[in-house]
Amino acid sequence: MADALDVAVLTEWLKRAAATINARQAYLSELDAAIGDGDHGANLARGFNAVIAKLGTPADPAILFKTVGMTLIGTVGGASGPLYGSFFLEMAKAVQGSAALDAAAWPRVLAAGVAGVVARGKAEPGDKTMVDALAPAVAALNAAAPLADTLAASAAAARQGAEATVPMIARKGRASYLGERSAGHPDPGATSSAMLLAALAEAAG
Ligand code: ADP
Ligand code: MG
Repeated sequence: MADALDVAVLTEWLKRAAATINARQAYLSELDAAIGDGDHGANLARGFNAVIAKLGTPADPAILFKTVGMTLIGTVGGASGPLYGSFFLEMAKAVQGSAALDAAAWPRVLAAGVAGVVARGKAEPGDKTMVDALAPAVAALNAAAPLADTLAASAAAARQGAEATVPMIARKGRASYLGERSAGHPDPGATSSAMLLAALAEAAG
């Protein structure tokens, strides 16, 4: 069980994230087919496979996050590419100079990543986007808890946040073109965000 997120644990996170995205690629695209254009799973699988091919052995978390962000921006495409890219690039800035992030440091780092998504996409909670999974994941973190416990709570909050997008009417992204017809389906990006945070909790657990 890890007590801090160092390059080894973060690399394990990305490997698990890529494995999950590949395994759930069809499901994520199915969710996107219902309220978007059906490419979210394929977009992310392409991006995370490129990340794994590119990653190597980064010297520190900042370099790791920067490589992930740049690679996602360059390969994912769609709305989610620049959004997930901003997420990792803002985390790269927030971890500058740290070799490892413990439970006290992680809330600030994840919050910086989520702020990057919000700055780029301008979505608010309730708009039926990835922010509806990411914002609760930040809110659920407890700086004083053991790392594995706080990451598990954060991942559970993201999962609940993604499930809570079902009745929402999309106000951002492609799904917003559907208006009220976007209700009744989970948001694909919120679902993939919950998968990413689950992979992190597994990597540290
Ligand atoms: P595209 O919509 O261009 O096909 P994707 O299918 O890969 O891109 O990603 C769609 C997801 O992107 C949505 O489910 C939503 O979670 C997220 N998204 C779209 N626009 C925004 C936004 N402005 N802010 C936050 N997330 C967004
Ligand atoms: Mg799409």
